[in-house]
Amino acid sequence: MEKLYLSSPTMHGEEMNYIQEAFDRNWIAPLGFNCDGFEKEMEEYLKSDVHALALASGTGALHLAVKAAGIKRGDVVLCSDMTFSATVNPVAYEGGTHVFVDSERESWNMDPVALKKAFEKYPQAKLVCMAHLYGTPAKMDEILKICDEHGAVLIEDAAEALSAEYKGKKCGTFGKYNALSFNGNKIITTSGGGMLLCKDKADRDKALFRATQAREAAPWYQHEEIGYNYRMSNVVAGIGRGQLLHLDEHRALKEAIYNRYKEGFKDMPFISMNPYLKDTLPNFWLSCMLIDRSKAGKVETEGGVCEIVTKISKALAAENIETRPIWKPMHMQPVYKNCDFITADGEDVGRDVFERGICLPSDIKMTDKQQEKVIEIIKSCF
Ligand SMILES: *Cc1c(COP(=O)(O)O)cnc(C)c1O
Repeated sequence: MEKLYLSSPTMHGEEMNYIQEAFDRNWIAPLGFNCDGFEKEMEEYLKSDVHALALASGTGALHLAVKAAGIKRGDVVLCSDMTFSATVNPVAYEGGTHVFVDSERESWNMDPVALKKAFEKYPQAKLVCMAHLYGTPAKMDEILKICDEHGAVLIEDAAEALSAEYKGKKCGTFGKYNALSFNGNKIITTSGGGMLLCKDKADRDKALFRATQAREAAPWYQHEEIGYNYRMSNVVAGIGRGQLLHLDEHRALKEAIYNRYKEGFKDMPFISMNPYLKDTLPNFWLSCMLIDRSKAGKVETEGGVCEIVTKISKALAAENIETRPIWKPMHMQPVYKNCDFITADGEDVGRDVFERGICLPSDIKMTDKQQEKVIEIIKSCF
């Protein structure tokens, strides 16, 4: 069988028209009409008062967000624990001190109860860096309320959650600074790219200045601070404009995949799908399943996941089908071993989900028949 991916790029044709226009007008350089158009169209799509800046990566967007928040060496930043490392690495670029906040069980995102505890221990913290895992919105009302109470700013990492909604409002519009990613595996892709979304236009303009080498307004090259080369190219932005036309269609296909898994496992009560909150509309970027402890087997020394996770991933890999463990929590990562980790009540939820969870193929080009096969193979592992 042809390889079945977790999530691979799906192109539609319009992308080429925008790229062609960039070639026809010989506008290959960074910046230009596709960047401007992509930013404007994204702002319209998000139906919210945010100011968009197209960048070379989501990680770059998060870095500029941490800079905008004014983080300096030694400043404490309260961060999501179970997420991709790119959510939190930019804090390290600026010398900030991470404190990892555990996840809750209802959406697998930052637990407001643990966040509250983290603020009790670190009342000086002025920044919270939070991700929506796998396109599932976090408990935004609670998290924003706690941030407000402590005068802290929120960075929302919506890299996996573009098009997802919390109470009718799109993810990526809640924080003072927000990041999107268009990496190859995301719900829409530009091959590689990202976007910073700022509440204030002045912040967007300052981030643009930093993203383009921090050149002061002078006829010669004048620099008063350190700059970066983080801008998205005009060619790449063309892909994004074409993809954006199909974002809602991608979301609907992802949701159908999630529901087919749910249906497929309904006679196996020890399997549950990644949960989401009422009043939220996930984008279902990746469908994940969680296996009951009673059926999970021992935790393996190498890697740290339960035997059943390895068994399922091997059985699927034998048929050329990709799976992945859940993001390994940051407090379990050697590179962050010296950082503090705060739980709600002593129970390590992130570790538990990591040990017995698994990401399933969620590619929107997957046929019903292929998905049935995935489900059958998984069932045969029990
Ligand atoms: C993909 C991803 C990023 C990084 O985005 P890039 O565009 O690959 O730099 C950041 N955070 C999360 C949660 C992601 O999934």
